[in-house]
Amino acid sequence: MPAAQPKVGFVSLGCPKALVDSERILTQLRVEGYDIVPSYDDADVVVVNTCGFIDSAVTESLDAIGEAIAENGKVIVTGCLGKRPEQIREAHPGVLSISGPQDYASVMGAVHAALPPRHDPFVDLVPDFGVKLTPKHFAYLKISEGCNHRCTFCIIPSMRGDLVSRPVDEVLREAEKLARGGVRELLVVSQDTSAYGVDLRYREGTWQGRQWQTRMKSLCEGLTELGIWSRLHYVYPYPHVDEIIPLMARNANGGPGLLPYLDIPFQHASPRILKLMKRPGAVEKTLERIQSWRRECPDLAIRSTFIVGFPGETEAEFEALLDFLEDARLDRVGAFAYSPVEGAAANALPDPVPEEVKQERLERFMALQAEISAERLQRRIGRRERVLVDAIDGDLAYARSYADAPEIDGIVQIQDGYEAGLVPGQFAEVTMMGADEHDLFAVVDPEYDPD
Ligand code: SF4
Repeated sequence: MPAAQPKVGFVSLGCPKALVDSERILTQLRVEGYDIVPSYDDADVVVVNTCGFIDSAVTESLDAIGEAIAENGKVIVTGCLGKRPEQIREAHPGVLSISGPQDYASVMGAVHAALPPRHDPFVDLVPDFGVKLTPKHFAYLKISEGCNHRCTFCIIPSMRGDLVSRPVDEVLREAEKLARGGVRELLVVSQDTSAYGVDLRYREGTWQGRQWQTRMKSLCEGLTELGIWSRLHYVYPYPHVDEIIPLMARNANGGPGLLPYLDIPFQHASPRILKLMKRPGAVEKTLERIQSWRRECPDLAIRSTFIVGFPGETEAEFEALLDFLEDARLDRVGAFAYSPVEGAAANALPDPVPEEVKQERLERFMALQAEISAERLQRRIGRRERVLVDAIDGDLAYARSYADAPEIDGIVQIQDGYEAGLVPGQFAEVTMMGADEHDLFAVVDPEYDPD
């Protein structure tokens, strides 16, 4: 009988960037012959990839470490909270090792020390696009790490450092492998996608025999060559974003290529609050820019996030934010009531907004946006669009359109999806029949052409 493979349990917390780190570590574990197991009982050692972005994430991470220690005993900690080892050791002195984000070598070293790998040539048969935690048909593509901004509510730069971009040829090669492995949608993530390449002085790289620049526009052109969906997250409204709008305009209705979708975290609209936040971008130009993008690409879906109740926010400043929302008519919006993050500069700002005022503002904000989202979706009823199927449940297929990123936006519910024989990971042509505040309801176009 061959000896059993060493077994590793894995707990992955945090944002899409942390998820990419988890995928890298899992891929390396599989390459080296470790089995990944889903229960504490079966695992010889457990890796916990933590998040330290806000206080509730720190608590969740410390709880996850505590649970792994109680259930298994041998625990290796990595990820953003690993930047604060004293906090982890104080709560859980028994952890085997602690490392920060993207420190794959330390994680693998700790796994080797706790559980030496067993050589078996068959376990090298890992797909060349690695092990993915997302469903097979979409994948996160991390293009850079760290951030050159210093927003006062954020501790990412102190945890992850300044912007470090991955060279464009490396990113495009990874994207190509993912596409070959069956991925139909790439979600481009970073802390600031519009700053991509600035640290490398937009250095050129070779991919598919051609030269590409480490720069957002060139990356988008490269991704377009793959013939699958690409979606941009965490873009800032800088003037050079204008350059990629024509690429998006080609893919109205969900055609292959760069999707007419921009995830831009505006965070606020009052110039004074934005200044207190030290946010990049000039607010007075933002509305103009949105309007000019929409003139060029009427289908453009804009997603954003906002913070209400930032220290010192007055009723008038909050109302300026509501006015912005009315004018900008964004498609998708997430909002948070401000909560202090340990180590963030904003904690020192005067005039904190009382909790009940924050909650009341959050409700008013979300009520207004719900009306706007509903109105934006109504415009699409009767349209024919190409959507990507995520799941089948009973008679229904759950899909997403060009305007819906997984997990954070809405869905397209296809009423006759099962009957039409749709399967997850497939593109389908549908006709939009109805909508509520967040989701669309559709039927399969009788002439749809399954890919
Ligand atoms: S842009 Fe601001 S909020 Fe975003 S990662 Fe950088 S510092 Fe944090």
